[in-house]
Amino acid sequence: MNLIFMGPPGAGKGTQAVIMAKMLGIPHISTGAIFRENIENGTELGKTAQSFMDAGNLVPDEFVLGMVEARLKQPDVQNGFILDGFPRNLSQAALMDTFASIDKVLNFSIDDEEVVRRNSGRRVCECGASYNINVDSLKPKHNETCDICGKKLIQRSDDKESVIRNRLKVYHETLDPVVEHYRERGLVTDIDGSGSVDEVTELTIKALE
Ligand code: AMP
Repeated sequence: MNLIFMGPPGAGKGTQAVIMAKMLGIPHISTGAIFRENIENGTELGKTAQSFMDAGNLVPDEFVLGMVEARLKQPDVQNGFILDGFPRNLSQAALMDTFASIDKVLNFSIDDEEVVRRNSGRRVCECGASYNINVDSLKPKHNETCDICGKKLIQRSDDKESVIRNRLKVYHETLDPVVEHYRERGLVTDIDGSGSVDEVTELTIKALE
């Protein structure tokens, strides 16, 4: 099954993508994660992407399209994939139409103030663990340290409030038309992302049945 998970930052699409990828045995492909990996590894692509990401802006298409096309040619996508963070605008969606057919688009939604609250509470650890100090079920046990390795948690630079507000603005300007692009083809299922992780997982499973 070829799936796209959409939704504003913090609507839970990334969390659900991880859960569903495991359940369905297909890869979770997050363009944001690929960029972050490139930043950590100090690649040219990472250096270019960082300035756009730090400001909450989209990385220009010329750096995104080839990267996604190459990823979707890897053998592990034979039985399907979950795309998270792509396509992000109509030109990316148009390109996508030329090399992959999409079976379903899940559109996770929550209101804008909740987006700000959830994202500004997000904390991550060097070891890969992730928490949210504004969401009871996702809080670390001890202040802002990792439950698993004890290291101090950090806030991603693009999770700062001013950056989140800009990301939201960019989100509505560029993603709303993409959701419509797929809605016109009858591919979109809307998912209320305001509940707990378990509640949203239940809605996601139903949408994929
Ligand atoms: P995410 O982890 O999906 O929230 O992405 C983090 C950041 O990576 C975004 O704010 C963008 O700067 C960049 N990014 C991720 N995916 C794309 C994409 N498909 N097109 C352009 N920029 C992207």
